[in-house]
Amino acid sequence: MVKKISHIGIAVTSLEEQIPFYRDVLGLEFTGTETVEDQMVKVAFFNIGDTRIELLEPTSENSTIAKYIAKRGQGIHHLAYKVDDCQTALDKMEAEGIRLIDSSPRIGAGGHKIGFVHPKSTFGILIELTEEHK
Ligand code: ZN
Repeated sequence: MVKKISHIGIAVTSLEEQIPFYRDVLGLEFTGTETVEDQMVKVAFFNIGDTRIELLEPTSENSTIAKYIAKRGQGIHHLAYKVDDCQTALDKMEAEGIRLIDSSPRIGAGGHKIGFVHPKSTFGILIELTEEHK
């Protein structure tokens, strides 16, 4: 069902503070930032091979990323798998008895259709299923 990693999402308190590390120290290709109002995050994108690193900075204390950082600190937040069709993938997971956060896709950074799967059903890892926007 999944064939590659779309991206790795990392929760950070400050993009400004962390972008130089990824861009200048690690030498990843920085491709810009985008604010996703709906999820109250500002995202910075880095290409690595045919996948990406996404740094997620909360734009409000009500953001799930702000809550995550308050509880667990900065660090890896989710792993996103690329799927051909997000709704089909979510339905398949649900049919397998997997608990979902999103029963239907929402639009995430980059205009991709995304859906989250509950970490209680995935052995502790927050999984995002991403149908990449062409
Ligand atoms: Zn993501």
